[in-house]
Amino acid sequence: MNVYDVLIIGGGAAGFFTAVNTAEKLPNAKIAILERGKEVLTKVKISGGGRCNVTHAEFIPKELSKNYPRGEKELLGPFHRFMTGDTMAWFEERGVELKIEDDGRVFPVSNDSQTIINCFLDQAEELGVNIKLKESVTDISPHNESWIVNTTNNTYSTKHLVVSTGSNPKMWKTLTKLNFTVKAAVPSLFTFNIKDYRIKDLMGLATEASVKVLDTNNLEASGPLLITHWGMSGPAILKLSAWGARILNDKNYQFKIAVNWRTHYSTEETFQELNVLKQNNSKKSPYTHAQFELPKRLWHKLLEASNISENQNWADLNNLQLQNLAEELTNGVYKVNGKSTFKEEFVTAGGINLKDINFKTFESKLYKNLYFSGEVLNIDAITGGFNFQNAWTGGYLIAEDIFKKS
Ligand SMILES: Cc1cc2nc3c(=O)[nH]c(=O)nc-3n(C[C@H](O)[C@H](O)[C@H](O)COP(=O)(O)OP(=O)(O)OC[C@H]3O[C@@H](n4cnc5c(N)ncnc54)[C@H](O)[C@@H]3O)c2cc1C
Repeated sequence: MNVYDVLIIGGGAAGFFTAVNTAEKLPNAKIAILERGKEVLTKVKISGGGRCNVTHAEFIPKELSKNYPRGEKELLGPFHRFMTGDTMAWFEERGVELKIEDDGRVFPVSNDSQTIINCFLDQAEELGVNIKLKESVTDISPHNESWIVNTTNNTYSTKHLVVSTGSNPKMWKTLTKLNFTVKAAVPSLFTFNIKDYRIKDLMGLATEASVKVLDTNNLEASGPLLITHWGMSGPAILKLSAWGARILNDKNYQFKIAVNWRTHYSTEETFQELNVLKQNNSKKSPYTHAQFELPKRLWHKLLEASNISENQNWADLNNLQLQNLAEELTNGVYKVNGKSTFKEEFVTAGGINLKDINFKTFESKLYKNLYFSGEVLNIDAITGGFNFQNAWTGGYLIAEDIFKKS
């Protein structure tokens, strides 16, 4: 039997952060990571388009927690103890220089995720963390407040067990046998497939918008909206895909959205502004100048959709046309027919029910000395470095708790 003080299942971001921090606090503890693959940190490698967006420059816990459609309430307390600023300091203290980009995302200055991987591998080696590859865990069972862990090759025993297996359905199944409840996995962070004449040939166009999913309870998001070959993407859409992950799955990705290209203005206000434009530009064609800072190509499409022809001047527009245009500008309805994967970053919503976890320590409420960190939990965030922050925060607090108990 291989006897350990701390065993961590899964050599991903969460597993490594837990292992390294625990080893640092408990230099004499026997610690190992069991990884089923022949490499570790494979998702870190491909993350952030190969640059690894390690966290986000949001330093207020309450604001930070708002980026988690699942986990908002539960992560608030933990963020007060370890969050983005601590993450940045942690990496910088270990020689990884970081930079904050204009949109708040934090990357290594090297622009290379390998820098983060090297940092973890060096730390693990220096602190004597054993990394055991091709060790796929098939079963775990409690034994006198300790744990027995079976892999395809070996049996281990450990005082403290940390499960950091990401979105692996097999591990979720194993955990249900121990009476954990698991929220079914559904995709998050996807783009909307829309075929509509109003956005045809506008690929690559990006503008601010607010988007509402119809027939839902306030599922709404604002931000840049990008028109793609397949439909709509950009932060406004990705946020909706994350917040609506479960509802949109229930709808089988067939639903309608209303787009407000003027984010903060209502249809009524816009109608009045259009009337003013009509008076002030009576002899000009509405096609000459795009209004409301809209991209010209989009403005033209919305004029066409409102039955306004190119040979009409502002003065020629009747009330119905102005009303149609106000509707198109602030409440244009588009039919979504399916989804596409967002290539940069995608995550799964689902995992261990948060009610089963004590968020002061990330220990299970069902068993002593069993902890969970990272995506194995039913926690996920919008794009921007928040998903890794969940892994870092959980890993750090687990290390603290194991230290306190030892
Ligand atoms: C393409 C892409 C880009 C991303 N970019 C970013 C980004 O820039 N910023 C960000 O914040 N988030 C990003 N994410 C999300 C982020 O990668 C994840 O949230 C994060 O990796 C989760 O870490 P984890 O350690 O919980 O899980 P994982 O990284 O999935 O690690 C789990 C590990 O456990 C191992 N394992 C599973 N089952 C077993 C078993 N039974 N026995 C032994 N080992 C097992 C797996 O092989 C794996 O190595 C991205 C995701 C993708 C897919």
